[in-house]
Amino acid sequence: MKWKWLAAVMLVFAAACGQGSSDALDERNASGIENELEAPAVSSANDDKGKQETEEASEEGMTNEPDEDEAELPNVPEETAEAETLYRMTEIYTIVPIEEGADKNVVLLTFDDGPKDETMVTTMLEVLEKHEAKAIFFVNGFRVEQNPELLKMIYEKGHAIGNHSWDHINLREASNDQIDQQVEAVQRKVEELTGEAPQFFRPPHGAGNDYLKQKVKEEGMLYMTWSTSPEDWLAQNQTAEKVIELTLERVHPGANLLMHEVPWTVEALDEMLTKLKEKGYAFVDPHAIEIALD
Ligand SMILES: [Zn+2]
Repeated sequence: MKWKWLAAVMLVFAAACGQGSSDALDERNASGIENELEAPAVSSANDDKGKQETEEASEEGMTNEPDEDEAELPNVPEETAEAETLYRMTEIYTIVPIEEGADKNVVLLTFDDGPKDETMVTTMLEVLEKHEAKAIFFVNGFRVEQNPELLKMIYEKGHAIGNHSWDHINLREASNDQIDQQVEAVQRKVEELTGEAPQFFRPPHGAGNDYLKQKVKEEGMLYMTWSTSPEDWLAQNQTAEKVIELTLERVHPGANLLMHEVPWTVEALDEMLTKLKEKGYAFVDPHAIEIALD
């Protein structure tokens, strides 16, 4: 009788151990997946380098002047409102024609971390206009709050405003509540100033997670990191010559080109765009990119 009882106890114990260890294994497997890096697929830019992204690079910021026209919404340029959807974004964030016939040799120009400085923004807008190029300006909410008139200037010139979070924090390390706030606050601020909420989102440092991607989709935005960059945030690349050289070296058909509102990139822009055109590239209007959210 005693033996039977002991055998029963042993059996239960063994079963419990088996169950326990298989649970532990499942957990390990699940957490192992989390290290997937959100790195851009084509370029050498990665998360760690992204972390040095350019907050300290150069900021004088401009003085806040009272804006008399704050209640008045800027006009959307006609050609922007009418842009035809000709391109789509791939899983590796490059830009390709939806149908054959459209030019494959295109570059999507993007500028992150502004709007900071009136002189830099004005210069960028003039150069872009000269080259008949449209870009996405991925803005931070705290910058927009400091410089609402610069945001309006960018919007009025027909460029797309992208959401780059309010505070430029690492959203992969943020709570879901923080993610909601960081994403929503920029949507509402830009909508208040331009009448239109952003349709593009790029996470600071290229660092995202599934919750963020879902949130971005719910807000009606296309999520992207980038495919190539002159890495203008790195100390060794902070001259116009280097930015031009690296851009031309790394550009590829359908490139999603990451740049920043920093003096050396602003200085590089005119010659860079000229040389990209000489290489046979055209600049894709962000409004011609399909916002597919499924
Ligand atoms: Zn950034």
